[in-house]
Amino acid sequence: MRIAVVGGGLGGVAAAVGLHRAGHEVTLLERGAELREAGTGIVIMPNGLRALDALGLAGGVREQGVHALRAGLRDRRGRPLLVTEAAGAQQEVGSVAIVERAELHRAIRAPLPAGLVRTATPVERLDVGPGRVTVVSGGRPVLEADAVIAADGIGSRLRAQLFPAHPGVRRTGRLDLRGMLPRPAGVGPELLACQLLDRRTGAMFGLFPVGEDRLYWFTDSVLRGAPPSPEQGRREMLSLMADWHPLVPELIEATPPGDVHVDAIGRLARPLPSFVAGRVALLGDAAHAMPPDLGQGASQAFEDAAAVTRHLTGAGPADVARRLLRYDAERRPAANRIMLAASRQSRLTSQTGVTAWLRDALLRAVPSRLATRRLAALWHV
Ligand SMILES: Cc1cc2nc3c(=O)[nH]c(=O)nc-3n(C[C@H](O)[C@H](O)[C@H](O)COP(=O)(O)OP(=O)(O)OC[C@H]3O[C@@H](n4cnc5c(N)ncnc54)[C@H](O)[C@@H]3O)c2cc1C
Repeated sequence: MRIAVVGGGLGGVAAAVGLHRAGHEVTLLERGAELREAGTGIVIMPNGLRALDALGLAGGVREQGVHALRAGLRDRRGRPLLVTEAAGAQQEVGSVAIVERAELHRAIRAPLPAGLVRTATPVERLDVGPGRVTVVSGGRPVLEADAVIAADGIGSRLRAQLFPAHPGVRRTGRLDLRGMLPRPAGVGPELLACQLLDRRTGAMFGLFPVGEDRLYWFTDSVLRGAPPSPEQGRREMLSLMADWHPLVPELIEATPPGDVHVDAIGRLARPLPSFVAGRVALLGDAAHAMPPDLGQGASQAFEDAAAVTRHLTGAGPADVARRLLRYDAERRPAANRIMLAASRQSRLTSQTGVTAWLRDALLRAVPSRLATRRLAALWHV
């Protein structure tokens, strides 16, 4: 079967590899001049690793699993609010990998023959006819396919075309900065893999180890006006977090502005009525863009890729629409549940004032064992 995958991000590439290995004639169309993933670190949760296993792609990623970490939430000075034993949670539900995005993308796309990839091809629309789909780019048809996987990210044009009544993406009013740098000496294990919360401003700073010698950090704070440049955003965070645990300003300061990534966070205004329209299926952020607070966006995209591969294995042009409905039935309820949970988590960590004070008091009262069980439950999605 001829399958066009639109979008060469983590989700699109994983789906293209899966469908190619399942014996389909795949073409991956990417608007960028090359296939790449920019950015810093990324957390892949146990469910994401299991999906990569199913696609035969977990190998090198799993090796970077993080073990025996004390994860959890702390106040802005680094004092514990909720400490979880991530090692315990991992024993229950499998390991977590924290990897560099560019390396992850390289590892996932490696099995894809170069001849299947068309870069510099921004897809404008799909002309859906009886029995086939025509992909249009640059005002002309560029490909005919029996099915299309739309993995064109949070700002998906194809989602807007297929579901014109859906309101699309909304900004959450939060600003995220991310950076990665060599791990400075003296970062104690208690501060690796944790998030620090400031109940005065609702801001958050998180950090995770990447391999043995690097650190990935991220901030979340109120977005005021237009998203700042990396340089300006870095200055704003230094001023906002000046009196936090000394490691926080130290890490932000030590990251060159060129290595800082800025995102105005968005999410789908509401869940989609379907991930599928006839021979076209949405996948990844195109289907369920969510705030990054649960670290699940890419893991959900990998689950989509594994599911669409499984449902289309052995499928032909005559039964593809029916098979895609099974993909929708499997993935939409699960991914939508995570999308809503990510929004709730974002609200929880960004509280200020009395509500945040109450939250912190409650978090301090939760025993570590219970917190670990909750973490395990969250990962076991
Ligand atoms: C600050 C932040 C931190 C995050 N941290 C994590 C984390 O720790 N763990 C996690 O799992 N997730 C995390 N996420 C979410 C994760 O990055 C995304 O969910 C994931 O990358 C989505 O992959 P995708 O392939 O669906 O979309 P994308 O990666 O956005 O890929 C879409 C691709 O489609 C291409 N494209 C777009 N339009 C067209 C078109 N018309 N024609 C052709 N090509 C097109 C784009 O160029 C791009 O290559 C985070 C997100 C943010 C913002």
